[in-house]
Amino acid sequence: MDELKIKNLRVFVEGKEILKGVNLTIRKGEVHALMGPNGSGKSTLAYAIMGHPKYKVVEGEIIYKGANLLDLKPEERAKMGIFLAFQYPVEVEGVTLAHLLWSAFRNTRGNGDTPTPELMLTFRRMLKEKVKLLKLDEEFLDRYLNVGFSGGEKKRAEILQMAVLEPEIAILDETDSGLDIDSLKVVSGGINRMRSKDFGALVITHYQRILQYLKPDFVHVMADGRIVKSGGPELAGELEERGYGWLTKGGD
Ligand code: ADP
Ligand code: MG
Repeated sequence: MDELKIKNLRVFVEGKEILKGVNLTIRKGEVHALMGPNGSGKSTLAYAIMGHPKYKVVEGEIIYKGANLLDLKPEERAKMGIFLAFQYPVEVEGVTLAHLLWSAFRNTRGNGDTPTPELMLTFRRMLKEKVKLLKLDEEFLDRYLNVGFSGGEKKRAEILQMAVLEPEIAILDETDSGLDIDSLKVVSGGINRMRSKDFGALVITHYQRILQYLKPDFVHVMADGRIVKSGGPELAGELEERGYGWLTKGGD
């Protein structure tokens, strides 16, 4: 069965142990929410799955389709169908969103050769369709990547990227901050539209807000580099009421 299996992952950043043995399995068809207080290691997990060089894995493995992702380069991970929302977090003057989407599409869907006209046509058709679905203006595609994008536009661009790449497993590190209610709806709607038996997601979020629109199948709480609690969607509601204190060292 296709599942992303994170086993006993221990990660150091700048010589400090941040993840202290994380275990998590994401199957296709499932949406998991990862919550937890600031600094608990949620983004570190996302960066480790992506293969960011600053995040040193000292123990554990991430198994997908029989391979250990940790042995693969970030772009090889992407080719296997893993998507990370912040692959291109920086502002790039001179590179339009359309251009970025096309190169990402070519690299993950093409075979590495010069793209065929058919591939370009497929891309154009599907881009048009996805832009419409995400309620974006086509002019948005001609803007330079993230330059002057609002928080909401950056998130929409990420979701568009995901929609175009049609990954099997997506890791979305939500910043939450700066997302107005409209952007939140568009972003969660974009994720909901991806939901199928062939798609699994790990949605990282500090706030419960987005989970009202995006009903996760499972909710996990990370504290001090470990997943300290897992449950169903009701856990998100409980966290909203009780906060994180009861799950972390030293209480509230
Ligand atoms: P979260 O996403 O849950 O808020 P992070 O994974 O960003 O938590 O951070 C966990 C811990 O790791 C924090 O103490 C943070 O300071 C540290 N950390 C994360 N990334 C870096 C980095 N690039 N350099 C130094 N410390 C980092
Ligand atoms: Mg974070």
